[in-house]
Amino acid sequence: MASQVLDCPMMATESEFRRRIDLVRARMSDRTIDTLLVSVGRDMPYLIGYEAMPLERLTMLVIPMDGPSTLVVPALEEPRVSPMPGLFDIIPWGETTEPLDIVAGLCGDDRRIAVGDQMWARFLVGLVERLPGVTWLRSSDVVGPARMVKGPQEVSALRAAAQAVDRIAERLQTGQIPLIGRSEAEVSADLSAQIVAEGHERVNFAIVAAGPNAASPHHHPGDRIIGPNEIVLCDFGGTMNGYCSDITRCVVTGDIDAEIGAAWAALQQSQEAGVQAGVVGSACAEVDRAARSVLVDAGYGEYFVHRTGHGIGMEEHEEPYMVEGAEALIEAGHAFSVEPGIYVPGRWGMRLEDIVVATLDGPVRLNEASHELFSVRA
Ligand code: ZN
Ligand code: ZN
Ligand code: ZN
Repeated sequence: MASQVLDCPMMATESEFRRRIDLVRARMSDRTIDTLLVSVGRDMPYLIGYEAMPLERLTMLVIPMDGPSTLVVPALEEPRVSPMPGLFDIIPWGETTEPLDIVAGLCGDDRRIAVGDQMWARFLVGLVERLPGVTWLRSSDVVGPARMVKGPQEVSALRAAAQAVDRIAERLQTGQIPLIGRSEAEVSADLSAQIVAEGHERVNFAIVAAGPNAASPHHHPGDRIIGPNEIVLCDFGGTMNGYCSDITRCVVTGDIDAEIGAAWAALQQSQEAGVQAGVVGSACAEVDRAARSVLVDAGYGEYFVHRTGHGIGMEEHEEPYMVEGAEALIEAGHAFSVEPGIYVPGRWGMRLEDIVVATLDGPVRLNEASHELFSVRA
């Protein structure tokens, strides 16, 4: 299901890519970095909409502090590149050329060069040999903070992906997805098919955990048959036009007893408090503290065993993380999950998750599927 290479457009205009490169250059300037080199991984599609083939043949984007950027790409892959002449030049290399010499030539006498975290060692070692005296830095401090701040086109892409999984969640909540008598794995396959049918180019995960299995936050759906009167936790998402969705909803296959109803009410309050704490200028940790304190006060503190949320964008889990100790401040454009859970070992578990974007007007939920715990006869 997971295709390594995205053939879809990355849902961005040339001016949006320019905005991103400008953000990155501003950070390069702060850190007196002469050149940024990115290869395989998500930084390149973020910056120019092209994802390098994860092969031994070198594809590398060279972004100098000043002057034009250059994509060094195998000649046989050049047809896959959408050229943006105002944004970057293309140097295709043939089978008998050594592309590291081209990259080294573009770096010239630069002294401080940042490289992508996922660049292969074979490329980096080759560059280190060719460019003595260079101080090598990681690109994560340069591209990471830029990627955290989503622009309007990125928020639109995240919203479209969120709405797609909302439609699946609504089918789950209204009993249109059969549960009782089927294995978790079968329901997971069903959700995966719907993720694709709703327009995602790939499925990232479709966790289905029923009964006591729901007490394991990252349960792998298995052979266990879903029975009546169980909580069924579904946490699923994919990548659509390069951006990720991620939602968790729970249903009960029968009547909701008092214990479960009370826990769900606390979980809803906790999730709401976490979302409302997603305010520009507060620490990321405040989202975790707000969600957690509701569950602690209601007596479920020991059963909330993970952080409250993670950033989301071109990757399912990326910065910023909503966790105790994360003192970085929330900025307008940060997109992240708020997903508190209660896990009672051996008995049951529940989680409620939405994707939220921080804006100057306050936190905005991208997911709009109901927060109720539905009793389904399915
Ligand atoms: Zn997760
Ligand atoms: Zn999730
Ligand atoms: Zn999540």
